[in-house]
Amino acid sequence: MIPVDEIFGPTIQGEGKYMGNISVFVRFSRCNMNCSGFVVPYGDGKFGCDSFHAVDKMFQKSWQNFDNSYELIDHIEKLSLYDDVVFTGGEPLLYWDTDIFQQTLKYLHEKKRKVTIETNGTIVIDIQKLYQKDIVFSIGLKLSNSGESKQTRFNQKAIDIITKKANISYFKFVIDEKNLTSLEDEILSITKIFDKTEVFLMPLGDSAKKIEQNSHSTIDLVLKHKFKYSDRLHIRLWDNERKR
Ligand code: SF4
Repeated sequence: MIPVDEIFGPTIQGEGKYMGNISVFVRFSRCNMNCSGFVVPYGDGKFGCDSFHAVDKMFQKSWQNFDNSYELIDHIEKLSLYDDVVFTGGEPLLYWDTDIFQQTLKYLHEKKRKVTIETNGTIVIDIQKLYQKDIVFSIGLKLSNSGESKQTRFNQKAIDIITKKANISYFKFVIDEKNLTSLEDEILSITKIFDKTEVFLMPLGDSAKKIEQNSHSTIDLVLKHKFKYSDRLHIRLWDNERKR
């Protein structure tokens, strides 16, 4: 059984290497982190990331449980038969070893859909088959501003497998002006190890206002180290509205 928080689209991919591509999103529920350091308020005085409704089990009554791939594929295809498909979360790779997840990926590959998995890069997976290697892995590695310990948010083996075995993978780091110097050091220590992987820096924020505040220092860091900048268009346009 796989819990899914929301399936929506077609809409634009708001961030990363394929920003602007028309895509259908499947937001898988649950995560192995909480990222309260991103201080998005919800519930009764709680803080989490901008996907808190997919992460905190207090929302599980609204999640939809899938016990076969046909149903999941049907939901995706009802929205679009051609556009990119993005698996996001929560942490989608929690379900990598399930038949439902693998059958869905295999089917989408046969239908020539471009599939991106947005992951926090901490789950060790096995990538052997062609349809698995053709997935785009968008690795949103978390830094100290997530509020998670380094032990929780950094798994070198997990990153190693994805970056070596997948045909396309890239890093995304979320930057806030307040912690710029320490984030810069953390990013450089990671990119020193994974020096062949493309790097995108994105501004932190769950509202257009906060994205705007953090985007200038993010661009300064991009220019300094010759990384790439990714905006977060969905937040700039719709703040943290759901199904966007
Ligand atoms: S890893 Fe991603 S989905 Fe999970 S809590 Fe952190 S920001 Fe949210």
